[in-house]
Amino acid sequence: MRILVINCGSSSLKVGIFEIDGPQATETFKATYDRFEQGRCSYKIVYGGKSDAGDAPYADISTALMALPAIFAEHEIGAFNAVGHRIVHGGERFRISTILDAKMIDTIESLTPLAPLHNPANLLAVRIATEVWPGLPQVAVFDTAFHATNPPRATTYAVPKAWREAGLRRFGFHGTSHKYVAFRAAEEIGEPLRDLRIVSVHLGNGASVCAINRGESIDTSMGMTPIEGLVMGTRSGDVDPGLFGFLARQFGLAIGQIEHALYNESGLKGLTGSSDMRTVEDRAASGEADSQLAIEIFAYRTRKYIGAYAAAMGGLDAVVFTGGIGENSASMRRRICDGLEFMGLRLDHDRNQSVDLGGHAAPQIQAYGSRVRVIVTETAEQLMIARETAVALAGKAPAMDTIPVAVSARHVHLSRGAVDALFGAGYQLTQSAPLRQPGQWAAAERLTLEGPKGQIDRVAILGPERKRTQIEISRTDGFALGIDPPVRDSGKLEGTPIVRLIGPVGNLDTDGLIIAARHIHTNPHDAARLGLTDGMIVDVHIGDEERGLVFGKTMIRVGPDSLTEMHIDTDEANAADIRFQAEGSLVPGLRAVAVATDEP
Ligand code: ADP
Repeated sequence: MRILVINCGSSSLKVGIFEIDGPQATETFKATYDRFEQGRCSYKIVYGGKSDAGDAPYADISTALMALPAIFAEHEIGAFNAVGHRIVHGGERFRISTILDAKMIDTIESLTPLAPLHNPANLLAVRIATEVWPGLPQVAVFDTAFHATNPPRATTYAVPKAWREAGLRRFGFHGTSHKYVAFRAAEEIGEPLRDLRIVSVHLGNGASVCAINRGESIDTSMGMTPIEGLVMGTRSGDVDPGLFGFLARQFGLAIGQIEHALYNESGLKGLTGSSDMRTVEDRAASGEADSQLAIEIFAYRTRKYIGAYAAAMGGLDAVVFTGGIGENSASMRRRICDGLEFMGLRLDHDRNQSVDLGGHAAPQIQAYGSRVRVIVTETAEQLMIARETAVALAGKAPAMDTIPVAVSARHVHLSRGAVDALFGAGYQLTQSAPLRQPGQWAAAERLTLEGPKGQIDRVAILGPERKRTQIEISRTDGFALGIDPPVRDSGKLEGTPIVRLIGPVGNLDTDGLIIAARHIHTNPHDAARLGLTDGMIVDVHIGDEERGLVFGKTMIRVGPDSLTEMHIDTDEANAADIRFQAEGSLVPGLRAVAVATDEP
């Protein structure tokens, strides 16, 4: 499949052509157009191992876009299957990559107030591409989409309700980049993304940090607009919103003027006069105090965010640097990492100094024995857009078979030690009823859970015994207990909260309290029929037309003898208004997009 990718910004145009064959993606053509001045622009084209650069007679981005068909014809590039576009702001409405129609284009247009610089430029490219290649699917890939998994506690500003109801919230950007580098880091480490807590640090002209907890963005430093967070080339990053009142009273500045200055005249430019980190580093090295302070502020703010996100995830396995500064400035990486030794992150200064990113490399630059890995890699937004576009196209496939859905009420799996402590040494639980999964049963015995807020009685115990005690409850149960457990796959119990189990003979304070991540058990035969593989993430529609829901991020677990069945908890069942047995159907379009989280 051949995909044309158009990344159209306010002042530059980047174009790529990708051949996609399953997981393989090859960029066969690449062009950049920028510095539009006095009827001309600079360009660079890479094709067939040759590169050509110079200036072209294009006065603006539209003219450059309109000239593309002639350039493709000149290079004898054949027809495309689709065009993938980068769209910066998808608002609340767009959570996945989407094939565009006229109505969706209007919806994206209505988001312009949220991204006045970016979205109009992105849409211009969509409009021109629709004219130039009529009938070709146009797919929008949103910078905000990867952050759709951020929980309300991360996305909500503490402001009046009317403002929040009007759509004021944090969205986050650079999602395509964060998603790609997290995937690349996991690949380099050799562990699945779902087992890793990663902080992705994208430092370019725009800069942001993202907390990626087991493959999911849970927080990111940019907010409603791309101004919040880190110090950037010309953007301030975090400021006290009180400055609006101060500047209005002190200098009589209008809101538009302040906003313009925070966007275009702040950051490195505001601190030093130059928005370019190379210039700032050179000036700092030659002793200029403003540039030295700017570098310190830049590094300090980034380090604070890394620490904060390690706290948000309850630990940290890897930090990934990307973007022009993250990829190229060894001294900035070192400044950011120095001081993070307390959390087990130590840099190897020689490795940091000699980073080579050729051939999509992702070198590790932590010191021997550092608990946290540090990785540097080039971001590949165009490549990700091409892959997401291919996935969105594949989503047009027909719906698949249905899967039985079972609702798991709260329950406990006990270890031998836990049975001893709660019921007496050597006690054997009584098998009362077999479960549908072969070899598993419910015990006749029950126990009580206790947390700081209250108790839950008569909690079911499921056998057989396990190596580690695991307590699975719903979010609602978490409130009843006064404990906030994480959503985890079964068996992933590291760092989970402690709860008290009360049995007839004794009590036991144990960790292992989780909200079980929804999952589908299946066997190799059914998996093949349904087109599923172990570890795949799918989306499933459950319930009727009125109250039915699509449950995203559902993990496939293939076991030799497992019965095919989806497990959700009582909160999820109530939300979709279903009873204890129901059927779900895989949603092919969404499924494919979700798969891209692990295997972009
Ligand atoms: P964008 O966000 O526009 O894609 P880039 O990711 O290309 O930007 O990053 C541009 C930034 O990277 C600029 O501040 C530039 O000075 C900085 N940069 C590029 N190379 C180096 C280098 N060798 N040392 C320090 N900074 C660098």
